[in-house]
Amino acid sequence: MMKIKAYAAASKEADLKPFELERRDTLDDDVKIDILFCGVCHSDLHQVRNDWKNSVYPVVPGHEIIGKVMEVGKNVSKFKTGDLVGVGCLVDSCHTCSACKDDLEQFCENGATFTYNSKDKHLGGHTFGGYSESIIVDQQFVLKVPENLDAKAAAPLLCAGITTYSPLAHWGVKKGDKVGVIGLGGLGHMGVKFAHAMGAHTVMITTSPSKSEDAKALGADEVLISKDEDQMKKHAGSFDFLLNTIPVGHDMNPYANLLKRDATMVIVGAVEPLDPLHGGSLIMGRKSIAGSLIGGIKETQEMLDFCGEHNVVSDIEMIDIQNINDAYDRLQKSDVKYRFVIDMKSLKES
Ligand SMILES: [Zn+2]
Ligand SMILES: [Zn+2]
Repeated sequence: MMKIKAYAAASKEADLKPFELERRDTLDDDVKIDILFCGVCHSDLHQVRNDWKNSVYPVVPGHEIIGKVMEVGKNVSKFKTGDLVGVGCLVDSCHTCSACKDDLEQFCENGATFTYNSKDKHLGGHTFGGYSESIIVDQQFVLKVPENLDAKAAAPLLCAGITTYSPLAHWGVKKGDKVGVIGLGGLGHMGVKFAHAMGAHTVMITTSPSKSEDAKALGADEVLISKDEDQMKKHAGSFDFLLNTIPVGHDMNPYANLLKRDATMVIVGAVEPLDPLHGGSLIMGRKSIAGSLIGGIKETQEMLDFCGEHNVVSDIEMIDIQNINDAYDRLQKSDVKYRFVIDMKSLKES
């Protein structure tokens, strides 16, 4: 076992502070990763503040990890020292249930092991995430990162990227489809980039007219202001697919109204109660509303390969780990375009 530097929150009221944690030795199927960059996801903030009532302290957040392989176990053939790799929200699962067999480890029926704040099968206690110098992960949960991508801007692909790519891929979004992305934040900006890269006619749907120029720069063909009833009427019944990234409970009725017959809106942001939905919104036109959670490991690799081919990365703002608490305050106010990424050199040199 080895001790390494990290940043942790000791309680829901506490700031993140320097912390020392232990990682297991590199086992036969393990990849030991020197962490270069770690994205800051809204879930990190939720877990630190115990918003989902399941946090175990100390919490070391971070599940958008990019690093270089330092060492591999003797059964590892897919990776070698020096490779650029990623780790997302998952570090293990049961490997035997029907979800795991279908490459959907995020839905593991026996409980997937999440990168942080999950039961640690090896050391006991709970898992610690990427706000740390290094991490040791079973090879099946390590992703290859295309070398042509900007490594720091690739970090958010591991959560924000797969969260938005997976529903677009699963529901078969294709060239020429009219796709709406609702909400322009960390998730929404990736949704626009992916829908555009897949060849869809991409419409950014937002409450703020001030976001129009930014949305177009990210690849939106059109911007629809959801507060403008005339515009909403004009687009009614015209969308093949809607990706709803709004992070809080809201009224879905106006959006359901935008769907074409047989089209689907997928919720990826709001993990909380939603306002009542009028049954007629779905019945009239055989419409669907669904949800989606990150993606399995196989699909996450497909997403990274897609990003390599289409040169898709996140728009980021780099920070040092010492500024993480300020970054959380700004994240709370959605004051970031569009993802903070921690330069982990700042931790190693501290
Ligand atoms: Zn996340
Ligand atoms: Zn399983």
